[in-house]
Amino acid sequence: MGVNYSIDCRHCGQHSDYTTYTDARTMRCADIDSSMHVDTEFAIRCPVCRSKLNTTEADFRAQVRVVRQA
Ligand SMILES: [Zn+2]
Repeated sequence: MGVNYSIDCRHCGQHSDYTTYTDARTMRCADIDSSMHVDTEFAIRCPVCRSKLNTTEADFRAQVRVVRQA
């Protein structure tokens, strides 16, 4: 089971689809549908420029869309 991130990086303008495989922290971070909480300690970075995408919840919501896979 993985988590797909659809990323629109504000820093470099790159759109990328990024998949990560589950661990507890990733799932907690990605669990925004139910709790509407974004974990800003666990960095999600742009795969191109390494800019941190979740410095704040607002940044995360503006740049990252999470698509959970069953
Ligand atoms: Zn970037």
